[in-house]
Amino acid sequence: MTEERIFNFNAGPAALPLPVLKEIQASFLNFKGSGMSITEVSHRSPWFDDVINDAVARTKRLLNLDERFHVLFLQGGASLQFAMIPMNFLGEGKSADYVNTGTWSTKAIKEAAILNKAHKVVASSEDKNFSYIPSDISFNADAAYVHITSNNTIKGTQWASFPDTKGVPIVADMSSDIFSRSLPMDKFGMIYAGAQKNMGPSGTCMVIVRDDLLATAEKNLPSMLKYDTFVSKNSMYNTPPCFGVYTIQLVLKWLEEEMGGLDKMQTHNEKKGAMLYDFMDASDFYRATAQKGSRSLMNVTFRLPTEEMEKEFIAAATAKGLGGLKGHRSVGGCRASVYNATTMAAVEALIDFMIAFKKEK
Ligand SMILES: *Cc1c(COP(=O)(O)O)cnc(C)c1O
Repeated sequence: MTEERIFNFNAGPAALPLPVLKEIQASFLNFKGSGMSITEVSHRSPWFDDVINDAVARTKRLLNLDERFHVLFLQGGASLQFAMIPMNFLGEGKSADYVNTGTWSTKAIKEAAILNKAHKVVASSEDKNFSYIPSDISFNADAAYVHITSNNTIKGTQWASFPDTKGVPIVADMSSDIFSRSLPMDKFGMIYAGAQKNMGPSGTCMVIVRDDLLATAEKNLPSMLKYDTFVSKNSMYNTPPCFGVYTIQLVLKWLEEEMGGLDKMQTHNEKKGAMLYDFMDASDFYRATAQKGSRSLMNVTFRLPTEEMEKEFIAAATAKGLGGLKGHRSVGGCRASVYNATTMAAVEALIDFMIAFKKEK
């Protein structure tokens, strides 16, 4: 079975650690002696309580969260957060700052606009096709929050460090780089991430929200669109995405126990990224599209000399068991997504293939 698995460079849903998939497979029909699959047990059972509590505890340990932070599991993907954030935190008289670094930031801004909530786009990298992360931004001191996308999955850029917002809480969409590095949590009022890039299957969104930001939230909202609802019920106001939470729990266990935590994970990701970028910088054939200093360690976007060659490259790679290298349909080109679960062996195989492909040209 393992022999048939490919090197998976998909952007999302994306590769998960093989030991996690094997553990799911092994316990799928009889979860912890319950005589039921994890997809069959009640979310009100002690079996599931253990799963969700362990997932929360591991998240807190891995990210060094203090007691001000709440870890929640919601549905609706990261995309629902684009609307929930302004609904909850932009009541009468409040305004938020947004930084536009690509497709997902643009979508977040669009939802604030649809809801008619006051917001300012304080910086954007649209002038250069979102190939860099803006710096020297002046934020509004009275903003309710500053929204950023920490890693731009489609454009292949990533905030290498986080801006000084003079105490205004940062709300960050970390869908494609959560748990890839350690974080200066003091800067964040909220972090959210769809699970399917770096944590688990689609259908679950992790939200980490801080008390002081939560205290400013609007009260008069539908229950399912209010963070308070999920905080007060340990994410189980209604049936949570049980299988997603379970997979996340196992991925976090793997991160802690196999990979040795976020500092080690970060070093590993930096090595993988450096291998790919150094190789391309030394090449006159492959060209990384993101500017140095803004390059993503999760989504490596690149071009070949012609679109024709890119097509050929992607097809030949697929035939050799290297999958998911096509760039997002909105930008074209190529993209290797190298999330936490992507091994060094996969990156080496990709570089070997790139060398061989170029030789034949
Ligand atoms: C994939 C992605 C999203 C969308 O996630 P959904 O769970 O499909 O809503 C949002 N933001 C970023 C940065 C992403 O990579």
